Amino acid sequence: MARIDSITLTPFEVPLASPFRIATMTNHSANGVFISITAGGKTGWGECLPFHAINGENQATVMASLRTLAPAIHGEDSRDLRRLIELCESILPAQTTAISGMDMALHDLAAQRAGLPLYRFLGGTKRELPTDLTIRILPPKEAAAKAKKIIDQGHEAIKIKLGDSPMNDAERVATIREVAEDAILRVDANQAYDRLTALHLLESIADFDIQFCEQPVKRHDYQGLAFLHQNSTVPVMADESCFSPSDAFALLSHNCCNLINVKLCKSGGVLRAQEIASITQAAFGRCMMGGMAETRLGVTAAAHVASSHSAFHFFDLDAHQGHKEDVIDGGIQTVRGSVVLPEKAGLGARPKQEFLDRFETETLA
Ligand SMILES: [Mg+2]
Repeated sequence: MARIDSITLTPFEVPLASPFRIATMTNHSANGVFISITAGGKTGWGECLPFHAINGENQATVMASLRTLAPAIHGEDSRDLRRLIELCESILPAQTTAISGMDMALHDLAAQRAGLPLYRFLGGTKRELPTDLTIRILPPKEAAAKAKKIIDQGHEAIKIKLGDSPMNDAERVATIREVAEDAILRVDANQAYDRLTALHLLESIADFDIQFCEQPVKRHDYQGLAFLHQNSTVPVMADESCFSPSDAFALLSHNCCNLINVKLCKSGGVLRAQEIASITQAAFGRCMMGGMAETRLGVTAAAHVASSHSAFHFFDLDAHQGHKEDVIDGGIQTVRGSVVLPEKAGLGARPKQEFLDRFETETLA
């Protein structure tokens, strides 16, 4: 038995180096919650990083959710991974960010107990994880300067946020392509457009060799996504439209897309992210592993999952890059554009103690 004998919750804030503007919101800091779960003398760590405009959760709702979930799993056998995650889902099915932190900490514990890095515990193989870096909505000149910097750092892919206006978007993409001739360019509209505007915009940038466009239409506009999947020369990828394995199944079986962006805070953690990957692979599609504005802890968990499943072909593991401060010990490193996983058992990462000490920690013991 490895009973869960202590759970801690630490709400935290990390300022961003500059405001991050996308179609749906502008962020100035990353406000999340770190969770630790202790069982059998080992401690697993998890992170919840909510993005309210995307999943309706914020730091306050995540704290309230975790205060509801923690007593339900306290005292339970931490080895019952799936049962405990299903228990959390049965209590608060829509609070995927909150559940993702619980799931992450439980997986960290399980992999530590097995003495394996998480990606190996999940059946994965060490692989190359070339990540893009994202350019937020910026004036064309600034966007081009940022693109040059990204190429100089050794990244082969650039992700460009859209959603300003179709004209500005097209101009920004053209300016970036001029300075990044050989780069892989991906774009992400974050639900900004209706299907016809999106089609015109995608046709106007298709000549710039765009790998795919994430979420051109509203989250629930499955028909719009299907229309673009059938009519646009730029492939479309579902992001906000796909939270759960059931979402992935519906999108793929209704021919709305064959590309899915998986994020732990949308899927509710590692377990369901792997299920989405398997469903996508079974439907002959491909996945990207992405994130919101997580610290290096959350991005490390995402990188372990990305390494664990061959459905992942694209990597958007740059969530922490805009943070003013690195608040994590251990974890991934980004070397010449590729993410390198730690080889320690479990996640191989945890929040720095001196960072945690700056905030109030709640303990359920
Ligand atoms: Mg996206």
